[in-house]
Amino acid sequence: MHIILVGPPGAGKGTQAARLVDEFGIPHIATGDIFRSAIKNETPLGKKAKEYIDQGQLVPDEVTVGMVENRLAEDDCQEGFILDGFPRTVAQADALKDILTDLGIELDAVLNIEVGEEEVVKRLSARRVCSECGASYHLEFDPPQKENTCDKCSGELYQRDDDEPETIKERLEVYKEKTEPLIDYYQKTGDLKSIDGEAAPKEVFTRIKQELS
Ligand SMILES: [Zn+2]
Repeated sequence: MHIILVGPPGAGKGTQAARLVDEFGIPHIATGDIFRSAIKNETPLGKKAKEYIDQGQLVPDEVTVGMVENRLAEDDCQEGFILDGFPRTVAQADALKDILTDLGIELDAVLNIEVGEEEVVKRLSARRVCSECGASYHLEFDPPQKENTCDKCSGELYQRDDDEPETIKERLEVYKEKTEPLIDYYQKTGDLKSIDGEAAPKEVFTRIKQELS
């Protein structure tokens, strides 16, 4: 099962990815993790990426694509993967197509978890993060046992600047602008499967499984 996961911030991609990992026993490949691990292990591409990041510049496509390619070439990806955070552009989607062809891997689905703007704002503005350990809470669905205090380490919880309603709206605009061409792209290839993400995580997962079967 080779899957690409797309959806706006707050769509619950992380939650659904974790469920897919459990269900299918395939790795969750998030670009953030690939970056961190390549930099930590000082791979040639990791070193390059770090140079750009240290200078406050965007990591160029060829470096990102190279890191993703190296990761997808590892054995555990032959059986399947859940790719999260890549591709972000049509150029990257084209590069991914070539990578998969080289590896003899066929894409099964591009899961597009759709959640409306209002719902995203509602979800993200209720998010609180631990200032000590980074654990994430939701005031409504997953509140801490003691107000403003992390269950795991008793650290103080705070709201990320990113999760202020105005910032969320800006993030959504950016997401739409960047991702819509990608959605069109996978619509044309016939890989796109859109899922209504405005439901409890369990229900959304049931919908995903239906789409995949
Ligand atoms: Zn904590």
